[in-house]
Amino acid sequence: MKTKLHLLYGGKSAEHQVSLQTALAVTKALDTDKFEVYPLYITETGEWKRGGLLNGPAESVHQLKLEEGGTTIAPLALTNEEETEETQTVVFPLLHGPNGEDGTVQGMLELLNLPYVGNGVLASSAGMDKVIMKNLFDQAGLPQVGYAHFLRSEWEKAADTTYEKVESELGYPCFVKPANLGSSVGISKAKNRKELEAAFREAFDYDRKIIVEQGLEGAREIEIGVLGNDEPECSVIGEIAPKTEFYDYKAKYEDGDTAMIIPAEISEDIYEQVKEMAITAFKAIDGAGLVRADFFLTKEGKLYINEVNTMPGFTPFSMFPLLWQHTDVSYPQLIEKLVGYAQQRHEEKQ
Ligand code: ATP
Ligand code: MG
Ligand code: MG
Ligand code: MG
Repeated sequence: MKTKLHLLYGGKSAEHQVSLQTALAVTKALDTDKFEVYPLYITETGEWKRGGLLNGPAESVHQLKLEEGGTTIAPLALTNEEETEETQTVVFPLLHGPNGEDGTVQGMLELLNLPYVGNGVLASSAGMDKVIMKNLFDQAGLPQVGYAHFLRSEWEKAADTTYEKVESELGYPCFVKPANLGSSVGISKAKNRKELEAAFREAFDYDRKIIVEQGLEGAREIEIGVLGNDEPECSVIGEIAPKTEFYDYKAKYEDGDTAMIIPAEISEDIYEQVKEMAITAFKAIDGAGLVRADFFLTKEGKLYINEVNTMPGFTPFSMFPLLWQHTDVSYPQLIEKLVGYAQQRHEEKQ
């Protein structure tokens, strides 16, 4: 039976371009004997467009923007096509950040009763909000650096009180982050009051809620892939070694000279601990399909969880697919597995 796969990409988010690149790569990896691929593009302004059947891989990102032959649709019209005995519909949201990775699109797909790849509403929104995520991780007993959160309204009323709280509870250096974002957008490292003030202003440009964390110095950054539904499995471990002060947006998408080491050189003991913690984190948010779990490993050998990403970077050159490739799951196999988990989860709900 062929799967009718609706690729949902683009989106009104800082990660729009990344999503387009991912969609292009996914179209190239799909086996047309198994899948009928339909493009669903959300423009940068939030308009939805549906294209016709893609016969084979897209040639370019330009084609995926559906400027020729695309129909502008209301999002709910995406199900217009009839299910037949020969096809089953699955939606693959290739969207990162707010309005895509945060449970909003997932909620819409739930209402439409469509199977979709990846995490559900709850896991997506809990994973997107770093404060809620960290609270859940605390409850699950996962080790984390100290953190505090602030609302824009309280900061506007009494900025000095918020800075004093950071200084007395967390100290410098600290990391200031919008609560709901990704790709390091809006994140700064602050080493003194002046930098803290600038960091707050920057983060509050993106969100009404921010999180401040104790900054670790000289820790290694390691990441692991988790795949599955009720019985998730882990990939090998990777390490990122940014040349910059931290792994910021530029290092992620522009410079390209951040080293990715797969598998990371770590002891068997640390590998076992990371696997266990990653599964605990997946279950703490009630994950489904996939997450990439990110950790810090200090010079003293102590592990801290940093975050999980419910829709991690998914181009063939991104960490998550590469981790699985080194675990003997190729990019096309990975996509097929994810579609399979989506179908399984959908059947379990019926
Ligand atoms: P992603 O693109 O993985 O979704 P993100 O926007 O969610 O990223 P984080 O992973 O929280 O952001 O932080 C981005 C980077 O900032 C980390 O990879 C790391 O280099 C640095 N960093 C974040 N928090 C800390 C911390 N508490 N101590 C030291 N470095 C940190
Ligand atoms: Mg993240
Ligand atoms: Mg992210
Ligand atoms: Mg991260």
